[in-house]
Amino acid sequence: MTRHFLIFGPPAAGKGTQAHSLKEHLSVPHVSTGDMFRANIQGGTDLGKEVQSLLASGTLVPDSLTNRLVADRLHQTDVAEGVLLDGFPRNVPQAAWLDGFLAGKGTKLSGVVVLTVPDEELKARLKGRAEKESRADDADPAVIERRIATYKEQSEPCIAYYEGQGEVPLYFVDGVGSIEEVAERIRAAV
Ligand code: ADP
Repeated sequence: MTRHFLIFGPPAAGKGTQAHSLKEHLSVPHVSTGDMFRANIQGGTDLGKEVQSLLASGTLVPDSLTNRLVADRLHQTDVAEGVLLDGFPRNVPQAAWLDGFLAGKGTKLSGVVVLTVPDEELKARLKGRAEKESRADDADPAVIERRIATYKEQSEPCIAYYEGQGEVPLYFVDGVGSIEEVAERIRAAV
């Protein structure tokens, strides 16, 4: 049995932070599309140049680019038995693409962890993260609003997509609390 999991939730829900302990628990590598895009920007690659302004403005990268990046990563041997995807899928077409990709490999998703955090808490966290990590997309209140709106319009419908499909267990976890409290809730859920 392969173990392909998603950690899903709005910006600053704690996906990246929680992915680090969940990947240990599941014994699978962690793959974050946001981290991969930022590494490309940092490294000055062609892809990085192409996506830099999109990330800075809180806009989604086009599916064609994102899906190709994910396909390249998921073809590598370290993720043959499973992966914890973070930041992907971010819209229903990406979710459908992922289903097709995994089906092509004779596998499918094993579970989706959905972190839930109220909007006001998200905004406070994004502001705090801007001060600590100097991420261009966290600094500007208008960009923060756009990212939360993008989540609601494009990403959140993935939950209904998976619910409608009835194929994969969804684990809703309260993302408010200390890092360790939330990690414990996630481990208890999956
Ligand atoms: P957060 O943790 O705040 O949700 P991420 O690090 O996951 O942020 O993503 C940062 C940015 O990278 C997004 O705002 C978007 O521009 C881009 N990005 C990441 N994943 C995807 C994706 N699956 N599809 C399109 N764009 C993406």
